[in-house]
Amino acid sequence: MATIISIPSPADFHVHLRQGKIASIVTPHVRKGGFTLAYVMPNLKPPITSTAQALAYKAELEAIDPTVEYLMTLYLSPDLTPEEIVKAKEAGIVGVKSYPRGVTTNSDGGIESYEMYYPVFEAMQRVDMVLNLHGEVPSDAKTNTHIINAEPQFLPHLHSLHEAFPKLRIVLEHATTRAAVEAVKACGPTVACTITAHHLSLTVDDWAGQSFNFCKPVAKFPDDREALRQVIREGHPRFFLGSDSAPHPFHSKSTSTPSQGCAAGIYTSPILLPLVAHLLESFDALDKLEGFTSTFGRRFYRREVSTEGAEKIALHKVDKYVIQEQYGDGEETVSPFWAGKELGWQIVY
Ligand SMILES: [Zn+2]
Repeated sequence: MATIISIPSPADFHVHLRQGKIASIVTPHVRKGGFTLAYVMPNLKPPITSTAQALAYKAELEAIDPTVEYLMTLYLSPDLTPEEIVKAKEAGIVGVKSYPRGVTTNSDGGIESYEMYYPVFEAMQRVDMVLNLHGEVPSDAKTNTHIINAEPQFLPHLHSLHEAFPKLRIVLEHATTRAAVEAVKACGPTVACTITAHHLSLTVDDWAGQSFNFCKPVAKFPDDREALRQVIREGHPRFFLGSDSAPHPFHSKSTSTPSQGCAAGIYTSPILLPLVAHLLESFDALDKLEGFTSTFGRRFYRREVSTEGAEKIALHKVDKYVIQEQYGDGEETVSPFWAGKELGWQIVY
């Protein structure tokens, strides 16, 4: 049994770093959680829709913690043009994120259908940018669409996009279902998939009535969770970690009223690498930790690090310790996933 594991330059390929005071609290937690690269989501207020905004946001993050490499994304919206894609690529922006309208935090400007974006995708394919898909369709009583089947119902969109743009690199974000795992496996080498830490732990029973485990997409059934675990156990190179770590102030997670629900999002950044090690060990996939948290994603995104260039993060197996309950203070208090629970791995600096 391994008691020390050293991972070269861990990379989180889906993270929300927010803005303002919350950003100053949570951005340093990328590094605290063991990660040297953050693939940053663009759903701010207002969303990041231009190269100039993305570069300004990157500078803000670098001012908070310059030790992390930030890969920036744009928010897919009707404002985005093929010309802007070329400009973004030249400026080092890596991807474009698509949100279905109204499905998650700050997604009111999200898409309703993809055809209108084909010229943008054409440009992305040409300059080699990545399309990141929040793979859910909006709930709709007329078509019996709801939070449990929203992801399977999205998968035909993934297939038609892949068929129309076979060279466009596409990532289906935060997959939660067996159907999604199978759909991505069936695609060619240009389609990959991120899996969060929390979806390796939770099922429906864990979030029904427990707002701190509520996120979008919601955790599904035990068999779905098993499919996520199995694809990691297999060491499939197109499935890698994107934490979807999404901090919300404590009061917006814990206080719901008859007219106001709680915010969707689970915060894992400060404990991420130990948490992933702990989870992978629990389902016999600890030997895949390096692939899942570093090499597979880096290879897909063409951000490989050489053995000499890699910064090694060392995890030690330790006596169980309790996860800190809260970070920040006052209105900006955030609470991490598994707060008060125990972990058996720790980063050693
Ligand atoms: Zn997200």
